Formats: sequence, C-alpha cells, structure tokens
Amino acid sequence: MIVIVLLGAPGAGKGTQAELLAARLRLPHVATGDLFRAAIRDDSAIGRDARAYVERGELVPDEIAVRILLERLDRPDAAVGAILDGFPRTRAQAETLDRALAERGSRVSRALLIEVPEDELVRRLTARWICEQAGHVYNLDTNPPRVAGRCDLDGSPLVQRADDTEAVVRARLAGQLDALGEVIEHYRRQSVLRTVDGSRPIAEVTASLLALLPERDRVFEARPVAGQSS
Ligand code: AMP
Repeated sequence: MIVIVLLGAPGAGKGTQAELLAARLRLPHVATGDLFRAAIRDDSAIGRDARAYVERGELVPDEIAVRILLERLDRPDAAVGAILDGFPRTRAQAETLDRALAERGSRVSRALLIEVPEDELVRRLTARWICEQAGHVYNLDTNPPRVAGRCDLDGSPLVQRADDTEAVVRARLAGQLDALGEVIEHYRRQSVLRTVDGSRPIAEVTASLLALLPERDRVFEARPVAGQSS
C-alpha cells in the first residue's frame, strides 16, 4: 500500500496536485472535502452530521472525519493505496491514520507540504466557482468559463461554495492553520515531511512533488490501474 498525504492550507492547490499525482501514480484520489460534499448532497447520516460544520468552513469533528476516511480506504480500489487530500487535518486524525495503516501493515510514505503565502491563498479561494450540477471547478483568474456564470461542460449555473466567500475564507484560514502546524510537526518527527513552493505554475509543482517521492513509489508504470484486476 502506498499512502501519500498532501498538506497545505485551503487553496494551496492540494486538490489539483492530488488529482495529477493520482493519475500519474495510478492511485485513487481520496479527498475528504469531496466525500463530505457528496454525503451532504445525498443527505446521508454522515452528511447530516457534517453539514453545519462544512457550511461554516469549520473542521468537522475528528470522529466523523475519521469515519468517512476509513470507510473510503476500505473500498477495493484503495487496496493499493491512496493520495490523501484534506486528511489528516489535526494531530488526532494523523495519529488515528497511523494506527489504521499499521493494522493494514502500512504507513504514510510521504507527507508533501505545498506552501503558499496567505494573501495569495485568499485571492485564490475567493476566485473559485463551481458548477451547480456536477461541481466542475473554475477560477475567475486562471480558468474562467467561456460564458460568464455558466459551466462549459454542462451549462449549469456557476455558484460559490458556501465556504469560499471572503469572510468565511479568512475565518477558515485562521481556524485551520494552527491544526495544520501540528500535523506538519507530526510528519516532520517521522522524517516523511517534504515541502514544495506552491506559488509556482501547476506543472512545476507536480514535477517537484514527484521528485520528492521515495524511489519505490515512483515505479508507477509497472502497476495495474487502480480498481482493475489484471
Ligand atoms: P476541503 O474541500 O478540503 O476544503 O474541505 C471542505 C470542508 O470539509 C472543510 O472546510 C471541513 O469542514 C470539511 N473537512 C474536510 N476534510 C476534513 C477533515 N480531515 N477533518 C475535518 N473536516 C474536514
């Protein structure tokens, strides 16, 4: 099992980079924020427990976050490992993840920290809009839709995530940076932490992240595609 954790403040580009790394390494991209948004949309029990926190831009309690993550890791496609995006967000979550992986005979291979200055984060986060129908992501600065306010792919209206408005963004950053510091420290002590400058172009950041993986995790061509049996 290859487990790679991506760390960074909200807006640092974890989601974008996790997606690229997942495709490259043929591992599932596991984003707890996406799992929560899907659970809320489906109005599942876990979605109802998490809804108020997610909409306020606050962390969901550890017990719920751990539950949604472990359920996802138990799905067959994650038997090879995963790129974790948005988990762990607290020291307690990091410790629980260590225990859960140890039970599976594994451990976190690398924790990759994407660093971006705070003003840049606020600018990026408030520019993000998603389509109402499928959550396709646009950025008004760097990736605007062809027709203002409409999704290029399905034509549905673009909306801001309730937690992407400026006031919520600032509160969210302030609230999450302390906990992130503890998670960073956790992985630094395990000597698996590596840091990249996330203010550079997307492809450069991806190349830096790949270069920081242990050699054994980079033999991706030899592995079957996640979820396929041959
Ligand atoms: P994200 O898409 O990663 O920015 O996550 C969106 C929201 O989901 C966060 O603001 C939290 O409310 C919640 N969330 C996602 N991952 C976690 C986690 N590991 N622990 C607690 N809350 C989380």
